Amino acid sequence: MDKDKYQTTKYFKKCPMCGMIWDIRAQLLSDPDAKVTGYIANLDHAELGIFLFNHETCGTSMGIEASQFTDMYDGPIYTEKLTRSAECPGYCLDKAELRRCPSKCECSYIRDVLDQIVNWEKSMPQSDQILPSAYRELRARHSLNRKDVSV
Ligand SMILES: [Zn+2]
Repeated sequence: MDKDKYQTTKYFKKCPMCGMIWDIRAQLLSDPDAKVTGYIANLDHAELGIFLFNHETCGTSMGIEASQFTDMYDGPIYTEKLTRSAECPGYCLDKAELRRCPSKCECSYIRDVLDQIVNWEKSMPQSDQILPSAYRELRARHSLNRKDVSV
């Protein structure tokens, strides 16, 4: 009973301004109205950096911790921090910089994840062609909460 309640209120992100809810991460990433605009690096703990998204529907910017996305990366993670060294292009010092980092730095894999988000294919959430299993689940869940006159 309580478990069911928990399941239906769980979501990936809610817009702090308009209350729009993205139930799962892929839904946010493929939403044409949710655009990644920046990255506030955390130089001590790379995974605690903040990805900035703009919700274009209401014009609010919202931050999501990089740790929510780091599982998207499957390459090497370097152990040495090169920030401000000769090999560092300084991208992490500019929150509007979205490019991948060429240096073998502890922080560079976060920028690789960021690049994936920047290049994520945007789509209309109504389509069953995109992410079929995730969206079917999503729509099934939503239809339970909606009085659907077409049924
Ligand atoms: Zn919003």
